[in-house]
Amino acid sequence: MTVIRFTLNLVFAVSACLMLAGTSHVQPKKGEPLANQLFGAESVSSEQRPQVFGYYAKGCLAGAVQLPETGPTWQAMRLSRNRNWAHPSMIAFIRRLSIEATKHGWAGLYVGDMAQPRGGPMTSSHQSHQSGLDADIWMLPPKRLNLSRAARENISSISVRTDDQKSINENWTPAHMAILKAASKDKAVDRIFVAAAVKIAMCKDAGTDRNWLKKIRPLSGHNYHFHVRLKCPKGSPGCEKQTPISKISKGDGCDKTLTWWVTDYLDPPKPKKKKKKKVEKKKKLKPPRRRAREMILADLPRQCKRVLTSE
Ligand SMILES: [Zn+2]
Repeated sequence: MTVIRFTLNLVFAVSACLMLAGTSHVQPKKGEPLANQLFGAESVSSEQRPQVFGYYAKGCLAGAVQLPETGPTWQAMRLSRNRNWAHPSMIAFIRRLSIEATKHGWAGLYVGDMAQPRGGPMTSSHQSHQSGLDADIWMLPPKRLNLSRAARENISSISVRTDDQKSINENWTPAHMAILKAASKDKAVDRIFVAAAVKIAMCKDAGTDRNWLKKIRPLSGHNYHFHVRLKCPKGSPGCEKQTPISKISKGDGCDKTLTWWVTDYLDPPKPKKKKKKKVEKKKKLKPPRRRAREMILADLPRQCKRVLTSE
């Protein structure tokens, strides 16, 4: 039972960020371009009302807004990727959180990938970040906000976790904790993905004010940046919600399902032979799922065609 629960937890968690794209029954025609090539080729947003279509890992974004490359309390990093686009609700969130960061000794925030100008699947990295509601924020505390474009291509973030993945390292500070807590308490935020070691540290230090911890979700990676995911915004009836956290985790999530990430996940117990056979049988029955970089336009919500072709 416990194994099943942990497995389910893993499936939900992985599908949250890396995202299982779901199954698709539309087969690509010969020579048909992949959706990530189509969306990856667009350099500006569509002239439409801002609106999200579909899911974080299977969708697109109309009327995206570009985060200014440098603001009073932030800098967008890796500008050559042209992924500093998002739904206006995310732009507003970045402004809020970056002001908050200055209250904890940071110059602001270094903002990593958000979305492409029209969202959609990306040519590299992420399975999600398709609908303009995801943003990666660097763990590196900005000391200054006048980095050149070239510097923003070259500098790297820092890891706040030990190499064995089991605990935080000396780069983790109370300011990280305070900024993540503020982000989690923000009403627009649906959930935030961090390395499990980070959440374990937060669980330890949270004290009695703990309700916000439930929005902090453990996931592999996420030691160089934290990933903020916003709720579906108003005015986007076609935006598909993610399973509520209350359905996949109890309370603040500081429990066995969290420690699993630094125990069995890293060092899996040997599966019993009988069980393994059953799982293999089930797997064979499932149709193959199409991941972000395999999707074609027909896999996405029908409105995404208009998003792609509109001026
Ligand atoms: Zn991310």
